[in-house]
Amino acid sequence: MKDCIFCKIIKGEIPCWKVYEDKNTIAILTIGPVNQGHTLVIPKKHYENLFDLPETEAANMMKVVKKISEPIMKAVNAKGINLGMNNGLIAGQEVPHAHIHIMPRFKDDGFICWPGKKYKDGEMDKVLSKIKTFLKTL
Ligand code: ZN
Repeated sequence: MKDCIFCKIIKGEIPCWKVYEDKNTIAILTIGPVNQGHTLVIPKKHYENLFDLPETEAANMMKVVKKISEPIMKAVNAKGINLGMNNGLIAGQEVPHAHIHIMPRFKDDGFICWPGKKYKDGEMDKVLSKIKTFLKTL
């Protein structure tokens, strides 16, 4: 898809904070995190959302979710994880390329309904580095 920001990230045309990558899937830190470590799991092929996503791709995505959630949780010292997938504009889907949100949770973290936060300069690199450290223990 020509104008799709995720397709551009996958092609390397736009830089990203890459948490994980395999043959079918990429996982990146989102620049608008609910909490530190908020990660998006994205199929490398363009599908708009859950509805046109083949089962094999959905399974690939969930395998990655399962693999990286605990390392992410440990990296940011979270106490739990929310998973989310917005499907369609009305559901709050901002990028029309299927993706699953991994959202670390903390006590009293103020998470009510997808409030976006910003990283301070350099924090994304720090978080990414920590996540990669925990991923190496897999
Ligand atoms: Zn795309």
